[in-house]
Amino acid sequence: MKMPPFKLHTPSSLDEAFEIVKELRRQNLEYDWIAGGTDLIPNYKWHINTKSDVISLSKIEDLHKISKNHIGAMARLYDISQSSEIHPLIAKSASLVASVMIRRSATLGGNICLDTRCFWFNQSEEWRESIDYCHKCDCGTGADCRVIPNQNTLCVATYQADMAPVLMGLGATIYLASPTGNRSVLIKDFFKLDGITKNILMEDELVTHITFPDDVFEWEGDYQKLTQRDSWDFPEAGVAVLWKKGDKGPSDLRVATTGIESIPRFHSEESQKIIKSWSGSDSIEELAESIRKSVKPVLNTWFQPSYRRKMVKVLSRRASKGLLEI
Ligand SMILES: Cc1cc2nc3c(=O)[nH]c(=O)nc-3n(C[C@H](O)[C@H](O)[C@H](O)COP(=O)(O)OP(=O)(O)OC[C@H]3O[C@@H](n4cnc5c(N)ncnc54)[C@H](O)[C@@H]3O)c2cc1C
Ligand code: SF4
Repeated sequence: MKMPPFKLHTPSSLDEAFEIVKELRRQNLEYDWIAGGTDLIPNYKWHINTKSDVISLSKIEDLHKISKNHIGAMARLYDISQSSEIHPLIAKSASLVASVMIRRSATLGGNICLDTRCFWFNQSEEWRESIDYCHKCDCGTGADCRVIPNQNTLCVATYQADMAPVLMGLGATIYLASPTGNRSVLIKDFFKLDGITKNILMEDELVTHITFPDDVFEWEGDYQKLTQRDSWDFPEAGVAVLWKKGDKGPSDLRVATTGIESIPRFHSEESQKIIKSWSGSDSIEELAESIRKSVKPVLNTWFQPSYRRKMVKVLSRRASKGLLEI
């Protein structure tokens, strides 16, 4: 399919970007932020939610920084995966995204804000038109959700980005900016249930960077991902398990998942229950089972929900392996 035309803006500062936003709003024009474009451009090629204007963040120098407690939204996943300054688990998650060619363009901000996916939606316009579209992008048809019909209030498309679970587990804070001001929240509170809403970003707001608390390097752990092929593929499920070492087992434990529901999930209830009565491998088994029970995949990605749910247990167990060495 031919890419629909759009006007590309390339501001070199946030102030300049927000001036462009104000002008576009004055003209009643819609726009998208673009970072590496590895998801937005394929979506545009399929005519999914295209806009007349696109504002690139690539020339805003401040957004590219990487240091041990700070990663800019425009930091490339390849550079993150190769960095020896940041926490090794962040580098590991970045190294598991897509392929090296995609990671050279893909950014942290684009990964965190990645649109949700569903096999009824991530298709060409002709394909979607042939089924009369769906609720996420109904093109004025009032079409229903194909996965959970007869409700038309909720989209259950799946969040399939890799970086969120480890960032949640490390207690990252995400910083947002808009023409009306700046704010920050813990990244575990950034995501907002619904495959269309996805997160708390308001109109004209963007992600500038994330930071980590001082204790970030005291956390150890692992991130495990289920994919159809060894590289290139989106997570069909992903589990991060992180812990702080204590005298007899972990002194603190965090678990987060991705690729299963419309937003990544921080499983504080399950991990806090286990830590209170820690007993080695039995606790790992109990933790893995409780995470399996808590997730609710639907049928809109490659693998069957029942298989993805089973694999969440397997991935949780694998990501917890290091806990046996404490
Ligand atoms: C073949 C293929 C395989 C892939 N495999 C994986 C995978 O295994 N794991 C995975 O996680 N992803 C995967 N992806 C998806 C994607 O490449 C990555 O998630 C990438 O990190 C997206 O970053 P980007 O900079 O290219 O985002 P873009 O495509 O530029 O943007 C993505 C979305 O985020 C918004 N956005 C970007 N930056 C900001 C910001 N700073 N503030 C607010 N909104 C912003 C854009 O408006 C857009 O809606 C894959 C993509 C392809 C094409
Ligand atoms: S979950 Fe439903 S509304 Fe959302 S993209 Fe899929 S079919 Fe459309």
